[in-house]
Amino acid sequence: MGNRAEIDSSQCKGCGYCKVSCPRSCIELSKKINAQGYNYAEFVGEGRCVACGICFYVCPEPGAITVIKEQKK
Ligand code: SF4
Ligand code: SF4
Repeated sequence: MGNRAEIDSSQCKGCGYCKVSCPRSCIELSKKINAQGYNYAEFVGEGRCVACGICFYVCPEPGAITVIKEQKK
């Protein structure tokens, strides 16, 4: 499946820290809003994400981002 950042859109407050911090431009803010009224972050980095974890570390909302590293067979 590849490296990726899973974003729980219901936890996201749309601050955009993850988007501006990702070195591989893997995250965008959605035009849609979540139940809290925030334009939530979406992972768009299929094939680009290096699972560095920066998005996870900068996110102020616990549990909003989970970074998943590709499992090598
Ligand atoms: S883990 Fe790194 S490369 Fe992947 S989305 Fe997060 S900041 Fe970007
Ligand atoms: S850093 Fe966290 S709260 Fe901010 S936009 Fe990204 S996922 Fe949402």
